[in-house]
Formats: sequence, structure tokens, C-alpha cells
Amino acid sequence: MPGPSRQARTIRLPGRDVAYLLTRSRRRTLALSVGISGVRVNVPYWVTLREIEGFIRERAEWLQQILERREAAQATRLADGSTVWYLGRALKLRCFPGLFEEVRRVRHELWVSGAGEAVPDLIAEWLRRKAAQLLPRRALRYGRRLGRRCETGLMTGGSRWGSCTARGRIRLNWQLIGAPLWVIDYVAAHEAAHLLHLDHSPRFWSQVEALHPRWREARNWLKAHGDTLLTGD
Ligand SMILES: [Zn+2]
Repeated sequence: MPGPSRQARTIRLPGRDVAYLLTRSRRRTLALSVGISGVRVNVPYWVTLREIEGFIRERAEWLQQILERREAAQATRLADGSTVWYLGRALKLRCFPGLFEEVRRVRHELWVSGAGEAVPDLIAEWLRRKAAQLLPRRALRYGRRLGRRCETGLMTGGSRWGSCTARGRIRLNWQLIGAPLWVIDYVAAHEAAHLLHLDHSPRFWSQVEALHPRWREARNWLKAHGDTLLTGD
């Protein structure tokens, strides 16, 4: 049996082009959803592209409404005075319109200089850079503690916080950089524990417990606050 196949596609709807991720798998029905990582369409292997596009068009109005609401929320989210989460701390965003694109953290504030429309990208870049400096190291640390060799890096997109393959490749979602360190460490410990157990068996959880005794609390934190960290990139 082939595994699921994924493909990035775009469909022209009245007024706008909508990008979506098409996933073909062994499922039996068609499904359209808008998640934190964008529009997803999940279909069985046998459905034609024409049928898929017809399916999306039937739901175009609903889809457009959701996308518009989301964009409006994102635009207001990153205006001067709004909050940017960094290591569990709320940094107040200060925008300085200017030619020089620069992001600098000054105590409890994040100063961003640049054209208004560039601000969200500048912030995402800054957070990504910080994530790249910190997250892979945390996972590596737990891997070492287990005496396992692993390769660590960042994951972009998707609604998952981390992943670990049978070959020992650990990926952490860069958007975790908004969470407190003990929560980041839970995800790092969780993925590292998969180096020993590639399942969520009781043995796996006792390994997580040994690495990170606050795992339950951290998991609840992610359930409660995770949505505010995920921007879908
Ligand atoms: Zn897991």
C-alpha cells in the first residue's frame, strides 16, 4: 500500500486564488479544513482533480469567510502595542516605520523597524532565528542523556509540535519559541524518548517522565495556549 501523497495546489475562486495542501490517502471521503497551517483537502486515492476542485468550489463561500476572518485577525495581531510571545514572555511590539529592517529585543519590548507590511515577516524571521539557536540543542541534550545519536532541526508548517523518525531525525516546530522553556523541553524530551520507543506506550511515557517530570503540566500548557503560538507558517 502506498503511503499518503501530498501536493501543494492552488485553485482560482471568485476574487482570489487559494493555496491548499492536497493529501491523498486510504480515506473514503473528501474533507476540506482550514487549520493553522492553511487550507487542507484530504481525499481518497481514486478521486479526480476535477471532482476535488468541484468539491472546493461548492464550499467556496464558507472558505473565503474563514480566510478573511483569519487575515483580519493576523493583521491586527501584529500592530504596534500588540504582544509577541517569546520563551513564555509577553513582549510588547513597538513598530518604528523606517527603511532599515531591524528587530531588536529591549527588555520587555520587541522593537521592529521597517515598512508596515514587512513587520510580520521580520518578526517571524527573528523568532525563527532564535528557535534555530535554541530548539535543536534542547532535543540533542535529551538524546545524549539517553545515549542515543540523533540529528535535530526545525520543522516548518503543520500543527505538530515535533516529530521523530525511526532513523533518529528529530524536528521541533519553530513556533515553540513562544512557549516557556520548560514546555519546549517537554516537546524535546518527548521526541527524544521516541528514539527508544516509536509509540506512545506506557514504556514511552515512563521514559518521558524520567526525562521531564513536569510533562503533564507542559502538555496541558500546550493544549491551553498552543493556538496562540501557531501562526501557520
Ligand atoms: Zn509522540
